[in-house]
Amino acid sequence: RLSMAKSKFEYVRDFEADDTCLPNCWIVVRLDGRNFHRFSEQHEFKKPNDDRALHLMTKCAQTVMQELEDIAIAYGQSDEYSFVFKKNSRWFKRRASKFMTHVVSQFASSYVFYWKDYFKDQQLLYPPGFDGRIVLYPSNQNLKDYLSWRQADCHINNLYNTVFWMLVQRSGLTPVQAQDRLQGTLAGDKNEILFSEFNINYNNEPLMYRKGTVLIWQKINEVMTKKIKLPKEAEEKEVEVTRTRTKVVPLHCDIIGDQFWEEYPQILAE
Ligand code: ATP
Ligand code: ATP
Ligand code: MG
Ligand code: MG
Ligand code: MG
Ligand code: MG
Repeated sequence: RLSMAKSKFEYVRDFEADDTCLPNCWIVVRLDGRNFHRFSEQHEFKKPNDDRALHLMTKCAQTVMQELEDIAIAYGQSDEYSFVFKKNSRWFKRRASKFMTHVVSQFASSYVFYWKDYFKDQQLLYPPGFDGRIVLYPSNQNLKDYLSWRQADCHINNLYNTVFWMLVQRSGLTPVQAQDRLQGTLAGDKNEILFSEFNINYNNEPLMYRKGTVLIWQKINEVMTKKIKLPKEAEEKEVEVTRTRTKVVPLHCDIIGDQFWEEYPQILAE
């Protein structure tokens, strides 16, 4: 075939850069919605946390984990998701551009594909985009610290946003007034405003908002009834069979402390 033969044009391939990821490192791909400040307004996201949007993000991330190879864990909050590939993955010869582009394009097409399942009364008005980046972490501690950093970011932003939107929605402050009011306040001050002015104990806010979403693989035992026909019997018989499947499961738990990693040692083991 013509395409198999070397043509005089073939040399242009040598211009491609080698982007093989360093061996033995965790490969993290983080994506983030492009201009979702505007996107969330135009699509009337509930502020500060729209459940439909968070669940759609997680559906897309589950799809990425199921469709692509070797993702050990993912973590998401707001308009971002991080995917961690196993440190010894050989997928696409560890080419960074393959990892990043497959993650981001699979996620973006899923976001559009599944939109209507989550936003039943809200049309998708224009095609959303996502950026992607790739970072390598050589040690388990670096990887845990990376994920802790994203979860700490989730906490800081969510505490701020929760007070900010209370001041706007309940106290009728303008966004600028609310921003001024919160200027220079510490976490304790924000907790205090929530408690004394709005009777909200921040620790009772939903875990999904405060902790974000962790996606891990878990073995699930599924009991199902199957119709089988035994050779000696005329009638079909119903029998119960148990199948073990690995599924992507969402958790809204702390991943900064040691407990999570002690409970799921398998994540870092391969
Ligand atoms: P960039 O293109 O630089 O990422 P951005 O506008 O997307 O710009 P981010 O820092 O990524 O900026 O912030 C995401 C924005 O999307 C925030 O303003 C946040 O309020 C909004 N957003 C994301 N998810 C939700 C959600 N589930 N509910 C409400 N608002 C959301
Ligand atoms: P990879 O994931 O490695 O890219 P692939 O199956 O996409 O695997 P390609 O070398 O990209 O492999 O080839 C694209 C395939 O898609 C070809 O087999 C081709 O037959 C098919 N294809 C693409 N566009 C068309 C088209 N317009 N009409 C018919 N077939 C098409
Ligand atoms: Mg950003
Ligand atoms: Mg964004
Ligand atoms: Mg963001
Ligand atoms: Mg192809």
